[in-house]
Amino acid sequence: MSSPASDDPLLRALGEVVGHGQVRTDPDLVAPHEVDWTGRWRGRARAVVRPADSTEVAGVLAVCAAHDAALVPQGGNTGLVGGSVPRAGEVVLSLTRLDHLGAVEVGTGTAAAGADPSGGGAVVVGAGATLAAVQRHARAAGLAYGVDLAARDTATIGGTIATDAGGLGVVRHGTTRAQVLGLEAVLADGTVLDRLHPPLAEGLGYDLRGLLVGSEGTLAVVTSARLRLVRPPSHVAVALIATDRVAAALEVQRVLAAAVGPLEASELLTRTGLELVTGAPGVRAPFTDPPPAALLVEVAGGAQVAAALTDAVAAAAAEVDGVRDAVIGAEAGDRAALWALREGHTERLAERGVAVKLDVVLPLATLAGFVEDLPGIVRAAGGADAEVVVFGHLGVGDLHCNVLGVPPAAVAGVEEAVLTAVVAAGGSPCGEHGVGVQKRGWVARVRGPAELAVLRALKGALDPAGRLNPGVLLPASLAGEQEGPSDHLVEHQEGERPA
Ligand SMILES: Cc1cc2nc3c(=O)[nH]c(=O)nc-3n(C[C@H](O)[C@H](O)[C@H](O)COP(=O)(O)OP(=O)(O)OC[C@H]3O[C@@H](n4cnc5c(N)ncnc54)[C@H](O)[C@@H]3O)c2cc1C
Repeated sequence: MSSPASDDPLLRALGEVVGHGQVRTDPDLVAPHEVDWTGRWRGRARAVVRPADSTEVAGVLAVCAAHDAALVPQGGNTGLVGGSVPRAGEVVLSLTRLDHLGAVEVGTGTAAAGADPSGGGAVVVGAGATLAAVQRHARAAGLAYGVDLAARDTATIGGTIATDAGGLGVVRHGTTRAQVLGLEAVLADGTVLDRLHPPLAEGLGYDLRGLLVGSEGTLAVVTSARLRLVRPPSHVAVALIATDRVAAALEVQRVLAAAVGPLEASELLTRTGLELVTGAPGVRAPFTDPPPAALLVEVAGGAQVAAALTDAVAAAAAEVDGVRDAVIGAEAGDRAALWALREGHTERLAERGVAVKLDVVLPLATLAGFVEDLPGIVRAAGGADAEVVVFGHLGVGDLHCNVLGVPPAAVAGVEEAVLTAVVAAGGSPCGEHGVGVQKRGWVARVRGPAELAVLRALKGALDPAGRLNPGVLLPASLAGEQEGPSDHLVEHQEGERPA
């Protein structure tokens, strides 16, 4: 920890705001905040500052403004595009102590409380509360939070808002944007914006909440949010359907959605990913031969939902060419085993080394062709011996393309080739993981000049000195940054991820 008598005037002033023990400079304590979850992005932090509440966050931002110091907001540091770690000696603003959970407001069946008119509810939580803590809290009140992802134990509400996280329930509930009823945030100069409780049908001018969701810490620091909660289904069932190609999995998804929809989740798995997760100790392979493509669906219904899903899968197998096999998960244990196959992908990949991770969105009409072409695109771009693992949220066309074994010199070329192919197929180079540092160049390539002018104006209005997360989301030319070398290390390494 830094000493109260730190020689650095910035750190001394920050210590007066948050307590000197919450301004960390000890290399052992700072190190985990300096490298991202994938191990690909890392940089130096001047210090890690850990405020306890929004007043302290406001104080930290005001001090940083007075000392002209840049900040990197950080939640659980599970982001996958390099936006949560320092690049050039910034202060890391860790939000994990803002983990309060307010009382759950259970809806009355009307929209009067601004909650879910279908009888759900709402809750105010701190930006540092983990997704898992919010889910447990909602469950204890008989409700559920619509956003869920495998990093739930570490990812924070602030981080999921800043990245507009999608996740496993995205096809049913939409991205995080659709769950945020109100926000409290702090601007770069320390001003607190409190719009936690706007009425649901308010028409009171610009939607700052909508602007901040997905802004990746470049416009303001989220300190608290009021989240929509939903009524969980009484019964759910899961099916994993093996098919001989992605196009068949897409067709099965369409048939099942019509028969037993709306789908609660719809995920794509492919052969290389299935081999990876079933190779782990204690994991039971669902099929004798891993199929080229498999569809994992969850559906909700009454007590007979598993029987209804079984019938629908049988009908889909008769209708769609290329269905090989299927497993139904009716009981909780069987459902969890099927979900573990999907959720294990990111962790198992990380154990294999630092993958080139490209999260993209494709129209469903071109998605199957893109997945088929992908290994060839990677090979042609210099990844001759690379292994491609594709999975993702098929219901919304969000694909996680992971490429292992790309030589460091070929990484940029592989990224360029894959993302160019995505755009040529009518898709977007940036899916639910956001832009971060990885894809900031693509913002200028994909959004037109009129939109870019608005982005520049917004950044200039909210963070004129460019102190909030410099180097993230906006291309340097739009963020008012100087182009030039920084001490930000963008490393691509094979082998173990750093601890
Ligand atoms: C195993 C695994 C599975 C994942 N699955 C999914 C998935 O299904 N869907 C998905 O969308 N993502 C997924 N992710 C990515 C990641 O979990 C999400 O991006 C998540 O939203 C990041 O939350 P975090 O708290 O870790 O944020 P961080 O990684 O700490 O930060 C992410 C970004 O948000 C900014 N930020 C963080 N907190 C704040 C705040 N309070 N105010 C302003 N800015 C802030 C940071 O500066 C950074 O730019 C996964 C990651 C892992 C490791």
